[in-house]
Amino acid sequence: MSPLITISHVSAHLVDVTPEQIGRCYAVVGPDGKKFYQVENSQGEFDAEGQLIEYKVTYSKELGFQCTCKSGQYGFANVKHPSGVCWHVRASVAAAIEEKQALHGLVVVEPEATEVNVLIIDGQRATQEEYDRVVNAKPKPSHGNAKVYQPKPFSFLR
Ligand SMILES: [Zn+2]
Repeated sequence: MSPLITISHVSAHLVDVTPEQIGRCYAVVGPDGKKFYQVENSQGEFDAEGQLIEYKVTYSKELGFQCTCKSGQYGFANVKHPSGVCWHVRASVAAAIEEKQALHGLVVVEPEATEVNVLIIDGQRATQEEYDRVVNAKPKPSHGNAKVYQPKPFSFLR
């Protein structure tokens, strides 16, 4: 069995996550009190019952990342992206980093854990330095075709 894909591994491969993808993710607290991410499908497709198709992204120390999409069901076996996971997981990690609070819930899966600000990297308590690097990471400037409004210079000489 291949080693588990860690949060730090995925967080190092988020450059091509788009703001639109992040916008499709939202944190949900399950009946067991654990937080996970729900991600809308990229095509905006609906299932036979007319429900928007969404995938559930979870993380645990034991199982690593899991996603209910087709790729996730096969253990991301077909994923060619260097992150090794589907975009639902990447976007969820990016969303979690943006919503610092949610990240704690995503990675602190033991219900008895009472401490906040705990980040688990590779199954180890992260050092303060690692915590700052991952949790306090500056959001990447959006790239792509975002237009910057540039006012025309105003001139009286006309
Ligand atoms: Zn997925």
